[in-house]
Amino acid sequence: MYASAPHCPRCDDARPVLYWGTNESGTRRFRCKDCDQTFTAEPKSNRISPEKEALIQRLLEERLSVAAIARATHSAKRTVYNVLKKTGVPAPPRKPRTTRATRATRATRATRATRATRAKHP
Ligand SMILES: [Zn+2]
Repeated sequence: MYASAPHCPRCDDARPVLYWGTNESGTRRFRCKDCDQTFTAEPKSNRISPEKEALIQRLLEERLSVAAIARATHSAKRTVYNVLKKTGVPAPPRKPRTTRATRATRATRATRATRATRAKHP
């Protein structure tokens, strides 16, 4: 994997290092034999590609919902919100919440309307 054993970032010791498991993304970690410092030699970047960012921007301009964009681009909603914050495209409007009370009110109104219609046209 590595042409030569990675150097310790703390003491820059060239002595052999120990393999020390992997990090969350599966990249190998090491521990310095000299100072016991653990480190990832070549950490992966967690930035999204400029192409993906441009795609998310375009979809935001199309006023798609954040959840839909996250699903379509295989990214986290947090990532979509981060692009949103960066570009300043206004967030898509949220659906108003339907509570039990509003549903009950709608049902009552519908019943009253039906009764009124029946009274007019028996
Ligand atoms: Zn060291």
